[in-house]
Amino acid sequence: MEAINRLSPRAKNIKPSATLSLSAKVKALNAAGAGVIGFTAGEPDFDTPQHIKQTAIDALNAGKTKYMPIQGDPSARKAIADKLQRENSISCCSDDIIITSGGKQALYLALQCIVDPNRGDQVLVPTPAWVSYRPMIELAGGEVVELAGSIDNDFKITADQLETAITDRCVGIMLNSPCNPTGTMYSQHEQCDLASVLEKHPKITIISDEIYEKLVFGGIDHFSVGSIDSLAERVITINGLSKAYAMTGWRIGYACAPGNDSQMAKAMARVQGQLNSHMTSFCYDAIAEALNNSAEDVEKMCQAFASRAVLIYDHLCAMDGFICPKPTGAFYVFPDISKHFGRKTSKGKLIDSSMSFAEELLDEAKVAVVPGDDFGECGKNHVRLSFACNEEQINQGCKRIRDWLGALS
Ligand code: PMP
Ligand code: GLU
Repeated sequence: MEAINRLSPRAKNIKPSATLSLSAKVKALNAAGAGVIGFTAGEPDFDTPQHIKQTAIDALNAGKTKYMPIQGDPSARKAIADKLQRENSISCCSDDIIITSGGKQALYLALQCIVDPNRGDQVLVPTPAWVSYRPMIELAGGEVVELAGSIDNDFKITADQLETAITDRCVGIMLNSPCNPTGTMYSQHEQCDLASVLEKHPKITIISDEIYEKLVFGGIDHFSVGSIDSLAERVITINGLSKAYAMTGWRIGYACAPGNDSQMAKAMARVQGQLNSHMTSFCYDAIAEALNNSAEDVEKMCQAFASRAVLIYDHLCAMDGFICPKPTGAFYVFPDISKHFGRKTSKGKLIDSSMSFAEELLDEAKVAVVPGDDFGECGKNHVRLSFACNEEQINQGCKRIRDWLGALS
């Protein structure tokens, strides 16, 4: 009791990450021999390409084990700026780049730098959205304003919806295409429509989370909102190496915030300098290696995700009461499963929420999915399945779900 009372309200109130907790639970269950098929992991099941690993081994052997500049190793920042100019048409220089411990930290720093906790600042979050946006905005002292995307529009918001939601308290908007948890994407045209609304509201900073940029397979090209000239100086582009290069555990992320004499990147660096100083020194060389020499590795992994997307989508569409758009990027699907609410499992358990759906599915059928609640209010009729697992697991897991659904009454 004593210990709990010493916790600050923010420590008491922050929720654990549902995605990380569930993935850890699946690992623990399987270590104990439970034989669970997990569709929870938001990480590629591939190993980091060997040539990227070798750069870190070489850096360690060369003694890159000391403190480095807070914003990140200059040559790694140059490699990132070159990549963003070449591939994303974003005008930027090395000083506009900050390298962080994962994309997560880049998002956190950006929010710390734009939200004033004493001003009632709002941040717009198109939903369904990744589970960590809300806690990060709240930790910065901001208020989350959810904008629900309609399932009929692939969960995307419209320009009219955006226009109506903007108040003079809005200081930011989170964009995420390809999207976690929906697996859908905004086209260039759709992003330009949103941009034309944002152009009229100069106080708003656009945080564009492009971590799934390389994992696209549905015919829609990835587009960076930071390439639109009229907005470029108030877009913070977030990315990292976790997803495209199978490097989740390395914790390499970055942000690019061009213009105004790199003021935003420098502010983020001031926060980082008081927090964790910088990313792990011997990992910097891996950045240029990954960005410049891994096209074939990325292509192979992307093709695997593309076939899995078709496989899992076909399985889900064949199931009673699963409704979802086809994934075109990332490695997630987010079906509406609410048709089953009010039904009972063969063991007599009532399914009345996505939480109870996920709990009973895990308990009775040994299949783990993430309940939709933490992805926003509009996620509460959904569950998220990650297809970052092999085809055999997808086939088997979907068969288990189908059999379990078949026994509901
Ligand atoms: N953004 C989104 C949408 C994500 O799903 C993730 C997954 N962890 C991240 C950012 C951050 O990834 P990381 O910190 O591993 O770079
Ligand atoms: N982003 C991934 C997911 O949504 C990894 C876990 C996490 O950081 O949330 O599952």
